[in-house]
Amino acid sequence: MLDLKTIGLIGGMSWESTVPYYRIINETVKARLGGLHSARVILYSVDFHEIEQLQREGNWTSAGLILAGAARSLQAAGADFLVLCTNTMHKVAQELEAAVRIPLFHIADPAGEEIRQAGLSTVGLLGTRFTMEQDFYKERLRQRHGLQVRVPDQADRDIVHRVIYEELCLGQVLPESRREFRRIMARLVDSGVQAIILGCTEISMLVKPHDAAVPLLDTTTLHAVKAAELALAS
Ligand code: GLU
Repeated sequence: MLDLKTIGLIGGMSWESTVPYYRIINETVKARLGGLHSARVILYSVDFHEIEQLQREGNWTSAGLILAGAARSLQAAGADFLVLCTNTMHKVAQELEAAVRIPLFHIADPAGEEIRQAGLSTVGLLGTRFTMEQDFYKERLRQRHGLQVRVPDQADRDIVHRVIYEELCLGQVLPESRREFRRIMARLVDSGVQAIILGCTEISMLVKPHDAAVPLLDTTTLHAVKAAELALAS
């Protein structure tokens, strides 16, 4: 039997961005193996209403317990490794890792590696307020990948955060928000960033590579492609 690992996806945060994960993982496996081959995937999709409320309350402990439970279920169901389909919830990555024996493939790593391989060092980061303002994500990029990380100013962070939760996570892609993101990314470029990490799995619904003057690193695509490659590696 083919030595294809089983990927355990923790998704639903939001489900709008979990759909592309499933598609990209399968496309990557098909491109490599051809024919009717597809990925071995187990998906545990949470109710994002519950998670978002806990985020807003700052109750990361309860959110972490929910995701740790999901991780244990995926392990019991036969997953070989875990893919958490959101940047923000990597805030509780350690709690999740502590709950299982199988590894968690961290979402910041494929983006960090890609930037390093391109010989770049100063990056802009767009994501939720939690991802842009707290240390759990930026520190990973700094310490593991040696990157300098810049985020938009407070007013622009508020816009990015609002568009994520009030539009993109609800499946709304609005041209006026795209114009705002273009302006915000242009300001980051003016401040000297050499690339911008789309550090929220929904942002690629709104902006494409031609919307900025520097490379855009889409964490959804990079994470999903690398997860598939990991499943294919013997
Ligand atoms: N999917 C988003 C992210 O990548 C935001 C939703 C969430 O809070 O998980 O951060």
